[in-house]
This record gives sequence, structure tokens and C-alpha cells, in this order.
Amino acid sequence: MHRFRIGNKTEGSFHILGDELYHLVKVLRLKEGDQAVGFDNTGVQYRGIIESIDRDCASCRIVEEKFPEVEAKTMVYIVMGLAKGEKIEWVIQKGTEIGMAGFVPLRTQRAVLQLDGKKAEQKVVRWQKIAAEAVKQCRRMIEPPIGKVADWNDLMDILPAQTQWVIAYEDEKTASLTHILRGFHSEYPIAILIGPEGGFTPEEVSEAREKLKACSVSLGPRILRTETAALTALTMVLTYFGDLG
Ligand code: SAM
Repeated sequence: MHRFRIGNKTEGSFHILGDELYHLVKVLRLKEGDQAVGFDNTGVQYRGIIESIDRDCASCRIVEEKFPEVEAKTMVYIVMGLAKGEKIEWVIQKGTEIGMAGFVPLRTQRAVLQLDGKKAEQKVVRWQKIAAEAVKQCRRMIEPPIGKVADWNDLMDILPAQTQWVIAYEDEKTASLTHILRGFHSEYPIAILIGPEGGFTPEEVSEAREKLKACSVSLGPRILRTETAALTALTMVLTYFGDLG
């Protein structure tokens, strides 16, 4: 059954609008009487029968409402230095499948990719679409929000005050991520800072420790590519708290 983000809801029905409507009509060629699944980013899944399709809207009568337990209970955010090529797209797509709660792209000192103004906004729109597609593919009910491109100073205001921060740092020789997680609480969000291809500078690591109270952690003895590091850390956290496996 095909899945759609709901545009709006009225008593007993959900409505599919905009790009989602285009997809329903032009790509999937669904018709009145076909079934469709709708989600509205609240965690609820609606099964509906398409009752009418016109130029602006497809209306579906709701025949079933469910609350599938697909969202990870521990909210894990990836905060990743801007990286070149398709690395961020890759992390957003796979991270959504694995269960990340959200993603924040971060300007860092050693980033090769520089993104500002309109270009940065366009990228975020594109990344949000990738997350939306991945949600449908893996049957999640909530699209992880992609934050706007942030600077270090923005970070404290972007995520909730109780957020528990870790910064993945290849020069950290004592604290491993798994060890640090023993002192973390699964009911509070966890944010994982991942550096760009060139890594974080020691000053950035110190600032994260001081301002965000981040724990610097090792992900093991091998140097992982930035995208591998992001997905490995996410997987480790969700596995540790029982949200995977
Ligand atoms: N420039 C660094 C070097 O060559 O030594 C490598 C940076 S690595 C490609 C990109 C990011 O992945 C790092 O900033 C860090 O956040 C994370 N990372 C990769 N391997 C790691 C490890 N073994 N432990 C902790 N973090 C790691």
C-alpha cells in the first residue's frame, strides 16, 4: 500500500495535497476506491480509501487508525560537519532508516564545503525531501527534521536543554562511546557531533566540552570516514538503549 504525507485532516478523512497529490495521481496513477496510507508526523498511521480526486486534493475516508511502534524511544540527533559530495544525503537517508530523531548540518573550521544564504536553504529543502522519502520507504511515521545549517553558537538553542552531547573525536584515547553511554539517560535526547573529512580542530573539541558539556568519545581504533562515523555512532547508541536489534 502506498504511503503519503497528509496535507490536512477533517472529520473521518485525510487529504493529500501538493507534491504528494502529484505523486499519487501522475506517478502511481491511483484512482477512487484504491487504498492509501497516510501519516501526519504525529506517529499515527491512517489507512484510507480514496473517495475523490480533483486538481488540488485527493480525499481519503479513514478506515483504520494505528499507532505503530516504529519510532526509536531514545531521541538521537546527528550534528555533522558539512561534508563534500553526497555524504550528507547518504547519512540522512540511512540515518532516517536506522532511526535518528533529527539532523543538524554544522559549519566547522576544516569543512571544505561552504554553504551560506540561499544555497544553504536550498540544500536543507533537498535534505528534508530525502528524509521524507526515507520515512516512507522504511515505514516510519515521523519525518526527522533537518535543521538549517548551524554555527557552533547556535547549537545550544537548536536542541532541548536536557540534550546529552557527545563529540566523536579520533584523538580521544580513553573514553569510548559505549562507556560514556552508561552515564546517559535514554529518556533525554542525545546529540552526536561528527566532524567533516578533515575532522574537528582541538579548539572546536574544547569548545564543545565547555559550552555543550559534550563528552569526547572514541569510536574505536580505526579512523572512520565521516559518513561511516555518523552511522556507526547512531547505530551504537540505538543498540545500547535497545532500539535496534
Ligand atoms: N582528519 C582525521 C584524520 O585523518 O585523522 C579524520 C577525520 S574523520 C574522516 C571524520 C570524523 O569522523 C571525525 O571528526 C570524527 O568525528 C569521526 N571519527 C572517525 N573515526 C573516529 C574514531 N575512531 N573515533 C571517534 N571519532 C571518529
